[in-house]
Amino acid sequence: MAENYLDTRGRIFDIQRYSIHDGSGIRTIVFLKGCVLRCKWCCNPESQEYKIQTMLVQGKPKTIGQDITVREVLETVERDRTYYRRSGGGMTLSGGESLCQPDFCEALLRGAKERGLTTAMESMACAEWGVIERILPYLDTYLMDIKHTDPAKHEKFTGRRNELMLENARKVAASGQTELVIRVPVIPTFNCTVPEIESIARFAASLPGVKKMHLLPYHRLGQDKYEGLGRDYEMKEIVPPDNATMENLAAAARRVSGLDVQIGG
Ligand code: SF4
Repeated sequence: MAENYLDTRGRIFDIQRYSIHDGSGIRTIVFLKGCVLRCKWCCNPESQEYKIQTMLVQGKPKTIGQDITVREVLETVERDRTYYRRSGGGMTLSGGESLCQPDFCEALLRGAKERGLTTAMESMACAEWGVIERILPYLDTYLMDIKHTDPAKHEKFTGRRNELMLENARKVAASGQTELVIRVPVIPTFNCTVPEIESIARFAASLPGVKKMHLLPYHRLGQDKYEGLGRDYEMKEIVPPDNATMENLAAAARRVSGLDVQIGG
């Protein structure tokens, strides 16, 4: 970490203002570059590689990735302070997996907290516990992806088994330091069945303090980006789940867990 933590540098690929998703109120989402998973359905494939890339967007080359200090990111985030105050909003870290840049991630969250903003992070908790432990004091809401309970199926569709992530979910819950919300991307052929969603819901309900679960239906909005990166999109044949399917899965999850289960996040 830099001598003054605000000078810590990291790599992002976007900052999105005025979001009403991914945390309470109106939020600014900071997208960090780099991820250890390779989910077949990923809608941000430009997030996966840490290296700066060129992606064709509507036929024109666009540089993806920018090195920036915490101070510079917070200057942008603070522009919407009035909206945060009125709505209970703040800053959310997304990606990629923010934990791949631990110093930057910690410094961003600390900087936001010290400025009186609420903080949230979207993450699948695929990191050593020591990394997660460092950021918890600065994190109000941990939006944690639990994609499947079966390690082999998890590995087949994301490239990694899930034992570490499940263990970290237990440790985050046991710490009681942050609000933990479990999020499930609902992906046909991967986990879009009642028994698979029920299994995740049971796991979520076993975590002390967890009250909410979000089911996020698969969509194809990232498909063009694969083409822009010269990559094949393996999910071409997959049809997004319809409303009735999502309602049925949500009802099943509520039934077995007693959690507040919502569709979307
Ligand atoms: S964890 Fe998220 S960012 Fe990483 S590959 Fe999977 S969907 Fe993409």
